[in-house]
Amino acid sequence: MSSLARQVLKGTAATVDVLRPRAPGVVVLIYHCVGGGRASSVDLPVGLFEEQAAFLTEHANVLDLDTALEVLAGRRALPPDAVVLTFDDGTADLVEHALPILVRYRLPATVYLATGFVDGPRSIWGDGGALSWAGVREMVSTGLVTLGSHTHSHVLLDRLPAGEVASELDRSVELIGEHTGVQVAHFAYPKALEPSPDADAQVRARFRSAALAGTKANVPGRTDPHRLARSPVQVSDGMRWFARKARGGMGFEDTARRALNRRRYAGATR
Ligand SMILES: [Zn+2]
Repeated sequence: MSSLARQVLKGTAATVDVLRPRAPGVVVLIYHCVGGGRASSVDLPVGLFEEQAAFLTEHANVLDLDTALEVLAGRRALPPDAVVLTFDDGTADLVEHALPILVRYRLPATVYLATGFVDGPRSIWGDGGALSWAGVREMVSTGLVTLGSHTHSHVLLDRLPAGEVASELDRSVELIGEHTGVQVAHFAYPKALEPSPDADAQVRARFRSAALAGTKANVPGRTDPHRLARSPVQVSDGMRWFARKARGGMGFEDTARRALNRRRYAGATR
């Protein structure tokens, strides 16, 4: 998508928000890379990420995922402007650039690892920026980072044969346990694609929560914890559209994303 088309879409999404006000809830933001030097819409410049961290510190209540799930289950009160930070895939730049900022602002975050790319010769982007297990342990040691699974090979769970789903999930859980001592309880679907019924059942049997996309707030009492909506943060959001996403807006972007993805991932497996 061109940058002009992206800005037009974001402007449209903001207009739709005004017409369709949203219910208050917990907004789960999706990040991917920070300062990784990739020409990608999801590799945020370090300065922009820091500005967003400062914004959230001042204007939001950033919760860790387990606390957010308590809120969604109605066991805790919903604080105003509740936000959860999540990072998908796992790349070395998270330890180098995102972690020091999370530590400085004391912001909790969840990192969903595609374990087949941890300590590999190549990151999920095909470059040398793979996250190491030592890096994963460093993140956990801050006490701010919750680990989650994102499958082993980043396979798309709406189309994987049933027999392979279990091994993809179990392998990632085992590797995380082996290298960090953490028993993972949370999962994020690769490419945020809705799972097949079989994959859905397998994920529910293993994890307490599972995340998709959706670009909207999760409303307490009305949210399936295995269908958490998340709002993807892009470079082109800057601060203007980011501030809206952090409040649960910009949902129309997800409608457009789904239509695009149906074509984009038509023949893909990961
Ligand atoms: Zn991913």
